[in-house]
Amino acid sequence: MSSFKKPSNSRLPQLTKLTRDQHPISRKNISDNALKVLYRLHNSGFEAYLVGGCVRDLLLGIQPKDFDVTTNATPEQVKKLFRNCRLIGRRFRLAHIVFGRDIIEVATFRGHHKEDNDEATSHARKQPIAKTDEKGFLVRDNVYGSIEEDAERRDFTVNAMYYNIADFCIYDFAGGKKDLDAGILRLIGDPEQRYREDPVRMLRAIRFATKLNMQMDKQVQEPINEMASLLRNIPPARLFDEFLKMFMSGKASANFEMMVQHNLFQQMFPVLKTYLKDEQSPAVALIQRALSDTDKRVNNEQRVTPAYLLAVMLWYPMEARRSQLEVESGLPPMDALNIASADVIDRQCQTVALPKRFSLPVRDIWQLQLRLQSTRGGKAMKVLEHKKFRAAYDFLMLRAEIEGSDALIELSQFWTKAQKAPNKVIGNKPGRSGPKRRRRPRARKKPKGSESNE
Ligand code: ATP
Ligand code: MG
Repeated sequence: MSSFKKPSNSRLPQLTKLTRDQHPISRKNISDNALKVLYRLHNSGFEAYLVGGCVRDLLLGIQPKDFDVTTNATPEQVKKLFRNCRLIGRRFRLAHIVFGRDIIEVATFRGHHKEDNDEATSHARKQPIAKTDEKGFLVRDNVYGSIEEDAERRDFTVNAMYYNIADFCIYDFAGGKKDLDAGILRLIGDPEQRYREDPVRMLRAIRFATKLNMQMDKQVQEPINEMASLLRNIPPARLFDEFLKMFMSGKASANFEMMVQHNLFQQMFPVLKTYLKDEQSPAVALIQRALSDTDKRVNNEQRVTPAYLLAVMLWYPMEARRSQLEVESGLPPMDALNIASADVIDRQCQTVALPKRFSLPVRDIWQLQLRLQSTRGGKAMKVLEHKKFRAAYDFLMLRAEIEGSDALIELSQFWTKAQKAPNKVIGNKPGRSGPKRRRRPRARKKPKGSESNE
């Protein structure tokens, strides 16, 4: 097949083709929508493949999260074929074929990474080739190419397998099947160069190692510690997406441990750096517990929110700042808490951008920690109606468990009872819980007729 000519100076080993009887992927495992897209492209004379995570996961017997399609049709050609198509993306244009809530992403084969004057490798389509900056970071990636070039720019060997709808064969460009069988995660090409081009690949290495239960190849693992600081060049919004994938997919605990070990977590959460040095610190214990609770919930298909996790993660840095403010400027606790919250969230957003829809509930959960200290009177019970009460209560329970102070334990027990029977607990104040509230002396009634305009 002439279109499978290897580019000169290719970093791919020899192509392996697995015929239908040599692999287990059947069309029954592929979603109807993905099949529709593959067939329409194919019947219109284009090449059409499933690629990446879905092929890898199907080979492992895991239900893929989504089905990604790749083709030699340009985005504009794809758009002409599908009424339900939207073109997206600036850095690289992609077609989204929309079936209600299900979206099939269709990408045109991508071309080369490197500035390269070799006629044989700079592709015939006379598109500008992808560009890296002086540090090797990919700054432009909007180049169409051949399928081998597309395979070459993928990250791991196990992610560079293509299922062809024309012949039902798997085209394995980088020895991914062998690595998948051996459980070894290997980067395509030189690992250090691949990390420099896109430092997020270091996070992906960890995520795939835990998700797929694979070992990182020595060359994949070794450079990470040294190169981890390159994550600082990644736009904070992209790191937030990676944060979600790391911590909301059921492998949060394992990802946290490996990220800390490889100096990656410290880059994403610099405000936690000092706390992480002491493995016994309550900050670390609190985070570990919240992560393993999150994993349990995800694996039981219960709802999870990043706001809760972020409130837990950033709690101690916020508390430290709050008490510093209280001591230094004598601010009342709630004011100090509000300023400290804004400070810590601002600093966090410099590396991992927290969207407002998550940072606002984080602040609510923190404010409620203070409000939950007041347990007297019907007014205190109003907090039960707060939309973040449940998250704040869960957090309080966690703090009580990890910190183990009598006051926190009593307080958490109080709120456990209060939820069941708010009327019963009124006036039934636990030990010394909240800050004492001084009652304002009631204004003395003035004798009638003595009103003045003072
Ligand atoms: P999952 O969806 O389970 O997280 P995935 O492998 O499908 O895993 P995606 O982020 O959906 O991951 O990416 C799809 C494919 O695109 C990958 O399999 C890989 O081939 C390629 N890819 C994604 N991100 C990169 C990257 N940073 N560098 C190189 N190739 C990438
Ligand atoms: Mg995917």
